[in-house]
Amino acid sequence: MPGTLYLVATPIGNLADITHRAIEVLTNVALIACEDTRHTRKLLQHYGIATKTISYHEHNEQERARQLIDLLREGKDVAVVSDAGTPSISDPGFRLVRAAIENDVSVVPVPGPSALIAALVAAGLPTDEFFFGGFLPARSNARRTKLTELRSVPATLVFYEAPHRLAETLNDALEVLGEREAVVARELTKLHEEIKRGRLSDLAEYYSNEDARGEIVLLIDRTLLEGEVTKEVASVGLLVDQFERDGLDHRAALKKAARELKLSRAEAYRRLLAERGKS
Ligand code: SAM
Repeated sequence: MPGTLYLVATPIGNLADITHRAIEVLTNVALIACEDTRHTRKLLQHYGIATKTISYHEHNEQERARQLIDLLREGKDVAVVSDAGTPSISDPGFRLVRAAIENDVSVVPVPGPSALIAALVAAGLPTDEFFFGGFLPARSNARRTKLTELRSVPATLVFYEAPHRLAETLNDALEVLGEREAVVARELTKLHEEIKRGRLSDLAEYYSNEDARGEIVLLIDRTLLEGEVTKEVASVGLLVDQFERDGLDHRAALKKAARELKLSRAEAYRRLLAERGKS
């Protein structure tokens, strides 16, 4: 009988945020695959868990997955944890899960904390539908393209963001998505937990003057704030570029951009020329 692969969620800050079942599983498996063994050892020590650990991170994911699958096929149970939260969510895990499935090894989740869910439930933005985009691209051009793709997603947008990029991302979001309600959830479950709510423009200004520190989840509402539609800073050009990249010819791309922005084709064309300095 092959062993079981457990995906075990661990705290995102507050060490008390761990389930009884997680402790039980981490105690009883043959091996714990950790993103950073030293980091996880602190958690294990805190709970008096003596299980052996092995590193499993983005740089050795493929090779390690093969070794772990061999162990699982020999009948050993293995747990995967990341540094914080739920493994495989913007963290290693996915490759191993695929390999386990291909090798008929059962995959069992042991649910618990994840920063995106903690942020979403406290943000005060609609939770009925949400889109999790992981980390946005680090470069502004790629980030704007990504945000352009997400303009019309009818769901709360949730991203992980690095503190040194927060102000730039908020400014890009304001420009591409227009004025919307947004939330910056920082250091959740930790001593300096802070949940800042406001308009994108207010948050962009605030974090342009204030050093953001620690770990951050950024959430953005799905709709423009009332009264902002006419002032919308939306770029016809960004949309046209995107649709052309998707394979439409210029005419069709402009037509689709006009439809998305609820503009007449003539108005979209006029705006495009203005944006490109041709009028
Ligand atoms: N797997 C993790 C999870 O389930 O939340 C996420 C791992 S990802 C590499 C790390 C990012 O998650 C951080 O850069 C930050 O954006 C977010 N994050 C993690 N812990 C957080 C916390 N306590 N407060 C706010 N955001 C956090």
